[in-house]
Amino acid sequence: MKLYTKIFIGLVAGIVFGLIAGEYALYVEFLGTIFIRLITMVVVPLVMASLILGTASLGNIKQLGRIGLKTFLYYTITTAIAISIGLTLANILKPGAGIDDTAKKALMENYEGVAKEKVMSAKDTSVVDMLVRIIPTNPFASMASNDMLGLIFFSLSLGVALTYLPPEKTRGFINGIQTLNDAVVELVHLVMKFAPIGVFGLMSVVVAKFGVDILYTLIQYSLVVFIGLALHIIITYSASVKFLGKRNPISFLKDMREVMILAFSTSSSNATLPVNMDNCTEKFGVSPKISSFVLPLGATINMDGTALYQGVAAVFIAQVYGIDLTLTDQLMIILTATMASVGAAGIPGAGLITLTVILQTIGIPVEGIALILGVDRILDMCRTVVNVTGDASCALFVSESEKVK
Ligand code: ASP
Repeated sequence: MKLYTKIFIGLVAGIVFGLIAGEYALYVEFLGTIFIRLITMVVVPLVMASLILGTASLGNIKQLGRIGLKTFLYYTITTAIAISIGLTLANILKPGAGIDDTAKKALMENYEGVAKEKVMSAKDTSVVDMLVRIIPTNPFASMASNDMLGLIFFSLSLGVALTYLPPEKTRGFINGIQTLNDAVVELVHLVMKFAPIGVFGLMSVVVAKFGVDILYTLIQYSLVVFIGLALHIIITYSASVKFLGKRNPISFLKDMREVMILAFSTSSSNATLPVNMDNCTEKFGVSPKISSFVLPLGATINMDGTALYQGVAAVFIAQVYGIDLTLTDQLMIILTATMASVGAAGIPGAGLITLTVILQTIGIPVEGIALILGVDRILDMCRTVVNVTGDASCALFVSESEKVK
């Protein structure tokens, strides 16, 4: 039986178990936690090793600059398209218009406390601040505290510096990092054997904790997000995979199944990264040079699904509060959400925190996130699927355009 099939069985079994067992499902929560910890354990060494290798092995600064620019432009443009899809749908379908006062009051009362916590954790952060903080003052502190942006910045810089040294000086170091990288990839293969059980644990708990009645109240909002995410995959990625990646979009999506199901159940681009890298080289023949540069970057800085959801959420909250968003406001949302998706970590719930920064910038009441908290987890699972698919589509594009084998 293929690993994908086993993971899928784990997912379905988890949903069924969560529905039947109710709060008893919490007893299997540890299975999901073990899996997430195992897979997150490899992320820091993997991102560091692969980015140093990716950058150093691209050899010259010109090639690196070209690939870097392509990656950055691809990520920025697809993110802006994603938010535009979200904004357009939210403006046409007006999900916030359907919420009546009683539902609004109930949601606000239910989630006020948690909403305050989220707002506090984003407090005093402006978008500019977030960008400045990309530069770490101590890369070892970044590693120890899972500060992925700092780690990325340092690894890229170190990789660039290595290209300036004579090869006889760097060979030993690069071989060592290569071995670390290979060993970590093997570790991922081992950890993935546990994935079906881990996914079972994760899904049982999500289903058990997730109130269906909340989904019902917020069904219009959730649907707009689902439709937007689906459209982004069907239109944007399919076009990109076909025309830029020169592949059949349907077989692309088929080959992404394992990565997608993992993104869905873990709600984390970071946790999905090792498998996405493996998948891109194995199934799509993307050269390790490209995938080890494009994908670790993407897991942290490229979040189309998150940005799309933020567009819908901002308009939704504004609609519930009866605030009219001008065209300038909406353009500001595109700008801030594109920048915020760089700053958001690839972990569960990160998008909700950066959403508060966007709301603040536009002047929409931040406590409004209480309205959408109830369905955030399920939407997080879906938007993470889009985030990682976007990273893979970029790897295909860069690989095809560079023809690096
Ligand atoms: N969970 C998302 C990710 O890891 C980020 C978010 O939207 O919260 O890609």
